[in-house]
Amino acid sequence: MMADGKILIIEDETDINNLIKEALTNAGYSCIQAFSGTEGLLLFDHGGISLVVLDLMLPGMTGEQVLLKIKEQMPVPVIILSARESVESKISLLESGADDYVTKPFDIKELIARIAVQLRKSPLSGVKKSSEITYKDIVLDMDSYNLTVAGQVVALTKQEIKIMELFMLHPDKVYSKQDIYDYAWNEYYMGEDKTINVHISNIRKKLKAFSDTDYIDTVWGIGFKLKK
Ligand code: CA
Repeated sequence: MMADGKILIIEDETDINNLIKEALTNAGYSCIQAFSGTEGLLLFDHGGISLVVLDLMLPGMTGEQVLLKIKEQMPVPVIILSARESVESKISLLESGADDYVTKPFDIKELIARIAVQLRKSPLSGVKKSSEITYKDIVLDMDSYNLTVAGQVVALTKQEIKIMELFMLHPDKVYSKQDIYDYAWNEYYMGEDKTINVHISNIRKKLKAFSDTDYIDTVWGIGFKLKK
């Protein structure tokens, strides 16, 4: 987890770039500015970026090219700024890995709200104001890896915590055993079905000691998710 992730603004129009910077700074985020795609990528390569606001119409390297380069390297959220309004370009941008899209002229408040949504969703986000995520009566602190149910600390292993973190970051998503393995072990999945089943079963048992709620659903043939 990055402690001081910044928002990178890549926009060649100085007024717009400054406007975004000022609004983000006022909202409590730290950010850095780039005025071309090349400069943006250089700053991105330097590291510590939690989200990118990217204009499409840039001199030299285009926004689309910058988007592809960024997404090749890191799964950071990218929000596109563009004057283009056609449905086709929105779809192709989302297919290229853009996480969201704001059409110019945009309302700065809307952009800030969209940034907040992306940062909440992103496991890489270090600019969150709180490192806690909650689901029902479970609170997980992603910095200290402390998990509580109804205020009581549950002793989970590192892998069990990582599994809960994955689930709680996207409560509506179904995760395959491979997804869970990749995230919690950070290793290549060798098809060890039992490992994940054992860990899920242990998590269920440990949570059950503190609450009657059944938190995790088994989605047969697919994987696991949090219950609605
Ligand atoms: Ca531009």
